[in-house]
Amino acid sequence: MILSDTYKHRGLRKILVDNLRRKGIKDEKVLSAINDVPRHLFLESGFINYAYKNQAFPIGSGQTISQPYTVAYQTSLLKVKPKEKILEIGTGSGYQTAVLIKMGAIVYTIERQHDLFIRTQQLLPELGFFPHFFFGDGYKGLPTYGPFDKILVTAGAPTIPKELLKQLRIGGRMVIPLGSNEGQTMFVYTRTGKDKYKEETHGKFSFVPMLKGTENKNNENT
Ligand code: SAH
Repeated sequence: MILSDTYKHRGLRKILVDNLRRKGIKDEKVLSAINDVPRHLFLESGFINYAYKNQAFPIGSGQTISQPYTVAYQTSLLKVKPKEKILEIGTGSGYQTAVLIKMGAIVYTIERQHDLFIRTQQLLPELGFFPHFFFGDGYKGLPTYGPFDKILVTAGAPTIPKELLKQLRIGGRMVIPLGSNEGQTMFVYTRTGKDKYKEETHGKFSFVPMLKGTENKNNENT
């Protein structure tokens, strides 16, 4: 794959950002990160011409890269500040990871599909993005690396993963789509005390499911 960003791609990104603004995304720091990250380089080459449409696309292993609007919406809810330590569940293509890093965050990202983990671990540094990569089950989080300022779940969870709530620092926020395979509602949990959380709900979305355990190359569950 040729890792090039062209004048044409930059022009398409500007149009995408204008569309996201029209659809209600207001956080200029989020829009600026989306304007800067070359989304076409995160898609398989056959989909490159669609990279800047507001659509989800296959990234292999039955997974998808989230729509730009969804990425912008979740990132806005997270209220990212530079130097914050963020745990991301579902590395996938690495596009959302790159957006968080562009905003100055220090990102710890977990993926359960081994081939995606390997691919994205190679791609992101080539593009100049350096998160901490982990292969594992995001339901467990990363207890030894926490607490985190923010946690972002990019797959639809059937129930709230309790382990993740415990890994938020007091005052921290977790953004997570909760619901069934038919659709999820976006939730924001703010940890307000040792055992106290505030819950808010936002719009409806459609994510691939958050699954338990890990999956290796032969698609065997472990
Ligand atoms: N942030 C990604 C979105 C990918 S889709 C992007 O920008 O491309 C969601 C991803 O979550 C998939 O790659 C899927 O394999 C992963 N996933 C699902 N359940 C998981 C779990 N329990 N732990 C870690 N990753 C998980």
